[in-house]
Amino acid sequence: MDFDYDLFVIGGGSGGVRAARLAAEGGARVGLAEEYRMGGTCVIRGCVPKKLMVFASSFSVALEDAAGFGWDTGSGCRFDWPAFKAKKDAEIARLEGIYRQNLGKAGVEMHDARATVADPHRVTLSSGESFSARHILVAVGGHPFKPELPGAEHAMTSNEIFEMDDLPRRAIVVGGGYIACEFACILNGMGVAVQQFYRGAQILRGFDDEMRGHLAEAMRARGVDLHVGTDIEWIEKEGDGFRVKCTDGRECETDAVLFATGRRPNTAGLGLEEAGVSLGRNGAIEVDKWSQTSVPSIYAVGDATDRVNLTPVAIREGAAFVETVFNGNPTAVDHSLIAKAVFAQPELGTIGQTEEEARDQQPVDVYVAAFRPMQNILAGRNERVFMKLVVAAADRKVLGVHIVGPGAGELIQMAGIAVTMGATKEDFDRTVAVHPTMAEELVTMKAPTRSA
Ligand code: NDP
Repeated sequence: MDFDYDLFVIGGGSGGVRAARLAAEGGARVGLAEEYRMGGTCVIRGCVPKKLMVFASSFSVALEDAAGFGWDTGSGCRFDWPAFKAKKDAEIARLEGIYRQNLGKAGVEMHDARATVADPHRVTLSSGESFSARHILVAVGGHPFKPELPGAEHAMTSNEIFEMDDLPRRAIVVGGGYIACEFACILNGMGVAVQQFYRGAQILRGFDDEMRGHLAEAMRARGVDLHVGTDIEWIEKEGDGFRVKCTDGRECETDAVLFATGRRPNTAGLGLEEAGVSLGRNGAIEVDKWSQTSVPSIYAVGDATDRVNLTPVAIREGAAFVETVFNGNPTAVDHSLIAKAVFAQPELGTIGQTEEEARDQQPVDVYVAAFRPMQNILAGRNERVFMKLVVAAADRKVLGVHIVGPGAGELIQMAGIAVTMGATKEDFDRTVAVHPTMAEELVTMKAPTRSA
């Protein structure tokens, strides 16, 4: 049977674009539909604009610290959100243009329309067009989830925060995950008075316990008014701002509320179940290790499958799909060992097992270094860097590396190579230190702090 396309990709985000380009470069006839802007969450309203906001917000600390190094930074220094926003928006538009250019160069036919699955080999576009395809790849990503509580409509999500016309004077951030911690720090750094409410006992559930505690304290010391064990009950409009009722009984006034309470796959109304595709919890597309759904011609990658919701993982899954389906080289993505960074301020970088996970499985030696980095001394900043190596007592393999401190995201990328290669503590030890750096502590930890 002849098809209009060898591959039709639904979704122009990280996973879909990678798969479309690779398949087209290999000679496949590829179509791709995107209903919003090319680049997906990462480029348009996620990682990239978020990181630009991290950079923008971090100057407040740099300016404070500069005085300790002899700079007269004067007073009257203030952050101009509209000026920054214009530059950020221009950069995102530039990147979107590059995405389109690269897809075009690879020979991918782009459709600026919403696509739905009509049957296992057919997609229908909101433009009215319809195409047959030998394979369909669903890479539609996810969207922010808002809890159902009175006044929830008054709150922003991470979609809207990038589009604010003005910076609020006060903000409440709800949640204790990646987005909540990152934006609490961003807004705080930009001069907003931030309260963060998290329903659990400690932020960043799933990360190493000691790191969670250390980061929470560091965020508080930098000015985030963090309340754990506290959620919000309702939001009411009041004047130009809002009144928010907390579960601890307090009522707070604020100018903005950000829900950072998780994300859900964008699978509603896509025609997937009607076509026979099985969906799981919260509408996540169920796939096997080859990213194949319950319908053999339909595959899915990225956040729509709710495996590990990170850009580089979606890219890997997209590339593995092309290897498997178009290059005759079945390739599964290993989701077990993935370096991660939370771009809070300070940052948290992590790879491998937490101390708690490792201890549950085998005897471990835990090496910890907590120190005030050199630049903080003259700056008069008390913030400490925290580093931890979790090492298997039996074969001395480094099972986990965890870092809270400036540049932890960059550091963990490099430490991640060693851990992925299966390095032992002795491999770390025989690596000569780079001096004077913070990272040298990773290779100079002598005796275990504890064994468990
Ligand atoms: P997370 O899953 O990281 O965090 C969601 C937070 O919301 C948790 O603290 C959760 O609490 C809380 N929560 C969930 N439901 C409710 C509710 N009904 N009421 C109150 N609180 C609630 O999701 P995010 O939205 O922060 O981020 C989504 C994903 O995007 C991340 O998991 C990550 O994969 C990715 N991401 C990665 C980034 C990076 O790599 N730096 C940056 C941003 C996002 P509890 O813990 O109790 O469930």
